[in-house]
Amino acid sequence: MASPPTEPAFLDLDLQECQARFVALGGKAFHAKIARERVFAAGELDFESMTALPAGLRGRLSEQLPILTGTELGRTEASDGTTKLLIGFRGGDAVETVHIPSLKRDRGATLCVSSQAGCPVGCPFCASGKLGLSRNLTRGEIIEQYLRGRAIGELSRSVVMGVGEPLLNVENLVSALETVRTEMKLGARRITVSTVGFPDRLRRLASSKPHFQLAISLHTPDDEQRDRLVPAMAGTSVEEVLLAGDDWFEQTGREITYEYVLLGGENDSLGHAERLADRLRGRRAGVNLIPYNPIDEEPDGRPRPDHVEDFKQVLLDRGIVATVRWSRGMQSDAACGQLRLHAQS
Ligand code: SF4
Repeated sequence: MASPPTEPAFLDLDLQECQARFVALGGKAFHAKIARERVFAAGELDFESMTALPAGLRGRLSEQLPILTGTELGRTEASDGTTKLLIGFRGGDAVETVHIPSLKRDRGATLCVSSQAGCPVGCPFCASGKLGLSRNLTRGEIIEQYLRGRAIGELSRSVVMGVGEPLLNVENLVSALETVRTEMKLGARRITVSTVGFPDRLRRLASSKPHFQLAISLHTPDDEQRDRLVPAMAGTSVEEVLLAGDDWFEQTGREITYEYVLLGGENDSLGHAERLADRLRGRRAGVNLIPYNPIDEEPDGRPRPDHVEDFKQVLLDRGIVATVRWSRGMQSDAACGQLRLHAQS
């Protein structure tokens, strides 16, 4: 695994660290507050335009404490308004961030954010896992995706569901999301972190009562199949994951969403739906069904729409709250992780 950059940038610092750095550069602690407000609330990304700061300090900040460290390497726009960014960070690592406008255009957009450069989990249906893990993203690199996403259009929600497994970079992620929540003012109910659900890590996270919603990618009710679909969790039973999810609900009081990528002919039978309903009966949780969005390397497997509806109906008939989320932006490179895969392979 590559090491993250050691020289901290502006977005890597919390308020206290930022104040100390501003003082070290000849400014005052309150200058740091002004700058943070300009960046996080107003979206200003250049110290030189912050005329409330002394001119000398602005120059030193511009030279020594960059706000953005990434470069936009690519951008694809789908006809439904979805924009996918490929952002290159220091050391040559690149991640994807996707801006998905609400179908009702006046309701803002959902931003899909990455937590790692690459992913070590290796789900066979996912482009992001094809190149393995390069490194964890820094706190600042996670926040930078929010700033770049908001520059495309106002955000109403975000999901940490892009490249990477959030629980494997939890410290940087939690600290970045605190800034997103408190300084960018995206409320805790509007931020969802999606994980494959490593039980011990999930319990530790729950005990800290973080300020976001949780989704767990389950993908199957069957142990043997989950070992194949989520290889990094091979040997961890579905029940162990569900018990950790129960623990999250007990500790935080927030219901879990179980994500289920429907792979045609693999995990989309009515028997799977019945066994999934059995697993979830009595639990405070809903299911989000995601019909598979094919990647070039795995072109088959998109389930038939009538199968998707039948699967959902089995869950509903058994009292399980279920919704279907068809992927947006189906043009080339629109599936999860494809832009990065094609840029780096
Ligand atoms: S689906 Fe998620 S956890 Fe699985 S390889 Fe892709 S990014 Fe990693």
